[in-house]
Amino acid sequence: MKAHAAVQLYFDRAADVLGLPPAIRRLLVIPKREVQVQIPVEMDDGRLETFVGYRVQHDNSRGPMKGGLRYHPEVDLDEVRALATLMTWKTAVVELPYGGAKGGIAIDPRKLSIKELERITRKFTDQIHDVIGPHEDIPAPDMGTSWREMAWIRNQWEKYHGFNPAVITGKPAEHYGIEGREEATGRGVGILAYKLLGLLHRKPQQTRVALQGFGNVGSHAAKYLYESQYKVVAVSDHTGAFYRKDGLDVPALLKHALGNKGLLQGYAEAEQITNEQLLELEVDLLIPAALGGVITRQNAERIRAPVIIEGANAPTDPEADDILHQRGVTVLPDILANAGGVTVSYFEWVQNLQFYKWGLNRVRQELEAILTRAFETVWQEAKTHQCSLRTAAYMIAIRRVKAATELAGHQ
Ligand code: NAD
Repeated sequence: MKAHAAVQLYFDRAADVLGLPPAIRRLLVIPKREVQVQIPVEMDDGRLETFVGYRVQHDNSRGPMKGGLRYHPEVDLDEVRALATLMTWKTAVVELPYGGAKGGIAIDPRKLSIKELERITRKFTDQIHDVIGPHEDIPAPDMGTSWREMAWIRNQWEKYHGFNPAVITGKPAEHYGIEGREEATGRGVGILAYKLLGLLHRKPQQTRVALQGFGNVGSHAAKYLYESQYKVVAVSDHTGAFYRKDGLDVPALLKHALGNKGLLQGYAEAEQITNEQLLELEVDLLIPAALGGVITRQNAERIRAPVIIEGANAPTDPEADDILHQRGVTVLPDILANAGGVTVSYFEWVQNLQFYKWGLNRVRQELEAILTRAFETVWQEAKTHQCSLRTAAYMIAIRRVKAATELAGHQ
């Protein structure tokens, strides 16, 4: 199933429970604006290459739109539209004063030089600078991008509009970034794992965890869980998966990746397995934290983890979600599970607007408070309606966006 159709299906399930009429559904679903741009760039060897970039702005009824920027060869309009829509529900479920947006460029950053990446990023900014801004749409990092690209975008945008670091979040500390943004999504996954597993009466020391993806989200989630005494038995990235029955030495893995361009490849202190095997391991908690669409109708029956926390966006296809639900697997949905990143991005934006700076402890405390409140609300909603945590999270989000939309009027 295509990414946007999947998000749409989840929306419809919650809208059915809420009894939303078709006209309101249409209003909430159709994106406000979709931009597709051409990015012609001269490569290092003098060749001319033309790339395609996207920015989809889904909804701004609750505030300026917010969402990451993805660099990946499979980026297309459908995927960006799906991810922009998810951002609307995500910011609503954690009650940040934002709407949803997302962007991306169909490139493989690993095959480009830093100079080429910079030229592509600046050209893309030239094309979209007039539709983003601190009060309109605030990009942030996602797969394939980091603080480096955010600094370039800020610098390029300011050439048109003047100083205003609040135009983008996930910036380096030297560029009005915030301490704790880089770890925030993975840390949020860890915080929520602790809350959820606690309610399910599972102790960290007896909880075996398998984690797919060892980039920004996966590596920080692994670190947090390891430090909280969980037994992280498997991790992976696109180069392979690594398993150790008695628990992996996460600090050693982090050190290995640091000295190896961020890659796990070549790690010798664990058994090597495939990414497919990782998903199907007999563990207590599975965290997909890489690509979307990895839990499908084909492998859902074989997944043995009783709890799944969606660190990645859209890792579970709706058919797979049904199978997991019928099998009694608890799934903490992406729109809540990985909301730690946008939450700390919100703190960064607020501080940029106020020219103020919090310390790391304050950032971590506020992050935990916001995620805990959102988690408790979703948990309660699921109990009240006897539905999945995903449907509960969507119901809360849709109700909030619908209320803001209706209060603004349609004339
Ligand atoms: P990243 O680029 O930092 O890391 C991605 C990781 O996935 C890398 O380790 C990569 O090797 C791995 N990977 C890629 N293809 C794979 C494959 N086929 N099998 C196994 N691993 C594979 O990206 P990220 O920022 O960590 O994002 C990961 C997911 O989390 C994405 O779905 C993203 O949308 C979502 N997310 C990220 C943030 C954030 O703040 N960065 C916030 C919310 C959601």
